[in-house]
Amino acid sequence: MSADTILVTGSAGRVGSKTARRLLESGRKVTGFDLRASGIEHPAYREVLGGFDDRAAAAEAVRDAGAVLHLGAFMSWLPADGDKLFRANVEGTRVLLEEAARVKPRRFVFASSGEVYPENVPDYLPLDEDHPLKPRSTYGVTKLLGEELVRFFERSAGMPATILRFSHTQDAAELLDPASFFSGPRFFLRPKIRQQEGFGNAAAVEVLRQADDGGEALVLSRNEAGRPFRMHITDTRDMVEGILLALDHEGAAGRSYNLGATEPVDFAAALPRMAELTKLPLKTIDLPGGGVFYETSNAKIRRELGYEPRWTFDRMIDEAVQARAKRAS
Ligand code: NAD
Repeated sequence: MSADTILVTGSAGRVGSKTARRLLESGRKVTGFDLRASGIEHPAYREVLGGFDDRAAAAEAVRDAGAVLHLGAFMSWLPADGDKLFRANVEGTRVLLEEAARVKPRRFVFASSGEVYPENVPDYLPLDEDHPLKPRSTYGVTKLLGEELVRFFERSAGMPATILRFSHTQDAAELLDPASFFSGPRFFLRPKIRQQEGFGNAAAVEVLRQADDGGEALVLSRNEAGRPFRMHITDTRDMVEGILLALDHEGAAGRSYNLGATEPVDFAAALPRMAELTKLPLKTIDLPGGGVFYETSNAKIRRELGYEPRWTFDRMIDEAVQARAKRAS
């Protein structure tokens, strides 16, 4: 293991903050780079605050980087956020790569997303790394452009890079928190209504409102044909393990991997268990449209780098129940 400094972007975020802490715990030096402060205090930690597209901040961040973990990004699916997405995820990634190329890190790891695939209208399942890249969201296309930029700088600047296409990722404690950004609208009725209002999905808002009797409730989402949603939800701790393999494994240079849990979460099984454990009512709702239904293979990263996720969804839920009880007390 080398003693160089690791630059972790998105160091105030879900994945970046835990990656930075994990590296520091294992005795490595870390620079964090984010718009927001991480709150990390450690003698081997330095922090740069700024936007990825701010050249002076990016230059200061990469100054002593032996390797870069570019884990920060802007995530939004609101139609109004297109400019911000391109600035943070495309222009920001380009500026960071340009500045990184000057110091020639031994590895540049990029957090891409499963949204570079057409996850809910795939050519085949499970999605593997050979599946055509045809994003369906603005966020997804910014991640694909980020991947292209990473490969371009790898070729032109001789900077070995690893692309990780992240599964949907949550801290276990978020799963049963109605206020959480992703899990609130994914699993709870009222936050889902507010989210669909924000997206301007009037038909979805109407069916959701019909189920709203005023109390807190969980939602088992199905598509318009009654097919329950299915997707991967990976614990942040398992993502950190994959990122560390991409950072240090010789064989990861030049490779692209899906990174996430082995088994997808089948909402038809998960939601009744969540309702039972929380004693919340469960509303089964058929939403307009094709819905969410995919499965992604992590076989390549398991085979090539020895990745082994440990947090099954059931284990995450058990922890989420404890976190919910703690919030209530
Ligand atoms: P997060 O939102 O918790 O953290 C992202 C961090 O990036 C935040 O601290 C934010 O302040 C920072 N940031 C955003 N725009 C910035 C900018 N222009 N300049 C500087 N900092 C900026 O996200 P996360 O869940 O930790 O995700 C980590 C990475 O994984 C991101 O690249 C994300 O796109 C990707 N990803 C996440 C998921 C998921 O479900 N969480 C799924 C697929 C891919």
